[in-house]
Amino acid sequence: MIGEHEKHNGHCALCGGRLEPDQLAIIPFVLESAVVIVRDVPAEICRNCKEPYMTGAVTDRITQLLRQLRTLHTEVTVVSYTTLKEAV
Ligand SMILES: [Zn+2]
Repeated sequence: MIGEHEKHNGHCALCGGRLEPDQLAIIPFVLESAVVIVRDVPAEICRNCKEPYMTGAVTDRITQLLRQLRTLHTEVTVVSYTTLKEAV
């Protein structure tokens, strides 16, 4: 899911399906001892298998934010990308 975004060229790396641009995805990120579910992530989503692809800038920002969230002691956290954007 992460790190494939530069290569897809409009097609899904998993199934070759076409990507639908300008979508909002819900993407779970697994940390060491917790799961953070990020909603409203700008992404391209495969029409066939629904795999979301984020742009590099979005991935960078989320990675940065997950680093901060590592101090949380909640097992499952749900955040909105829009909220995160404003908080930094
Ligand atoms: Zn696909």
